[in-house]
Amino acid sequence: MAREELDEVLSYANSFLDALPDRPVGWRVTADELRAALGGPLPEGPSNERDVIVELAKAADAGIVGTTSPRYFGFVIGGVTPASLAADWLTSLWDQNAGLYVGGPSASVVEEIAGAWLIEMLGLPEHCSFGFTTGGQMANFTGLAAARHHVLAAAGWDVEARGLQGAPTVRVVAGAERHSTVDRALRFLGIGFQTQELVAVDAQGRIEPDALADVLAAKEAPTIVCAQAGNVNTGSFDPLRRVCEIAHDHNAWVHVDGAFGLWANASPELRHLTEGVELADSWATDLHKWLNVPYDSGIAFCAHPDSHRASMGTQAAYLIHSEGDVERDEMNWNPEFSRRARGFSVYAAMRALGRTGIVDIVERCCANARRFGEKLRAAEGVEVLNDVVLNQVLVRFLAEEGDHDRRTAAVVAGVQAEGTCWLSGSRWHDMGVMRISVSNWQTTVDDVDRSVDAILKVAARTP
Ligand SMILES: *Cc1c(COP(=O)(O)O)cnc(C)c1O
Repeated sequence: MAREELDEVLSYANSFLDALPDRPVGWRVTADELRAALGGPLPEGPSNERDVIVELAKAADAGIVGTTSPRYFGFVIGGVTPASLAADWLTSLWDQNAGLYVGGPSASVVEEIAGAWLIEMLGLPEHCSFGFTTGGQMANFTGLAAARHHVLAAAGWDVEARGLQGAPTVRVVAGAERHSTVDRALRFLGIGFQTQELVAVDAQGRIEPDALADVLAAKEAPTIVCAQAGNVNTGSFDPLRRVCEIAHDHNAWVHVDGAFGLWANASPELRHLTEGVELADSWATDLHKWLNVPYDSGIAFCAHPDSHRASMGTQAAYLIHSEGDVERDEMNWNPEFSRRARGFSVYAAMRALGRTGIVDIVERCCANARRFGEKLRAAEGVEVLNDVVLNQVLVRFLAEEGDHDRRTAAVVAGVQAEGTCWLSGSRWHDMGVMRISVSNWQTTVDDVDRSVDAILKVAARTP
């Protein structure tokens, strides 16, 4: 069973990986061309399974973005390391339902081990609980759900049982440049995003501690403070020790969105950026970004395991829960029920890289981001807009007639079409910008230099 299909995939995978370094990084088709290649009426009956796989790979290929290429710098997207990719294949092969221990004991124990390794690696308190999620969005949701439980329980309100109708008002205080997934998590939690009280940030997007203290001093209520490790544009960090100290003076819970920035805490060279992060109450981070495991993979950590469990835990008569919690039922720690055994890839990545291998990826990405910044800053008519403290670089291209947004957008589009590398545009502080994120484990100095050359060549022909 399935032998021929898997053989086809293996041979396609080998040719895809061999071609990857030289393949154009962007896609080479329109949506209509893809619809024509892949579409058609609902298949009335069965087809040869091997043919389906061969034809899918062939028809989809031109619309596959080289996100795993060492010269992909779009959004904040990691690649895949060899062990994590292979473990991801095993995950589908085994097809465990990693909701309950009894659905797959190895999946449960591997998550237990990988979660503990991550706590140590990221320098978080040893007693933290954790839940593997699909990504940063659901990790933020999980952390904020635990927070909602905790601050309302302290006010005598059981939010899981009674919801928010009639509950004491929960104050959510966040930096003005929080990630949009924080707003979305608050929508899902029934708190709403407009009820947030936003705190002023500095030019790099960091919370101003005095402004935070003023907002918190204004009134007493169950309060959650959302802080950030790694601004999605600038890569900057809120002053986490100060934020935690001020928030805790007001009995507020601190949730840290550290989708990629939390990984700075694993590096002796970068740890000054996350100083005090271990004082927070919950943390969210991605594994498909800097750990370079396949999509989708994130994790939420919580310094108050009881509140975490109270917000996520579930019981149903037909489920076989493990006796006395000696075994870990994953569904008690994340918002899913039946779910993919995400831990296998994470475990394999961490075993293969080890602590030094992971720190090396993070530090190398940051060194390469600084190289991007230095080389682009030195070029005529190019501005680097942010302090390159991590792996993010914001660039704009100055136009002689003064319409910098127009020229910057044209250079971004030109670079995407040229194919040496791929990066995205963004708006930041009312400016159109080119946004470079160095998050791939394979990116070398040579990849940076080739990409800078391609960017400057496109810029030279884009007045
Ligand atoms: C990427 C990112 C998220 C969302 O993570 P997903 O894995 O895309 O759900 C949240 N916060 C920050 C700061 C991010 O960079």
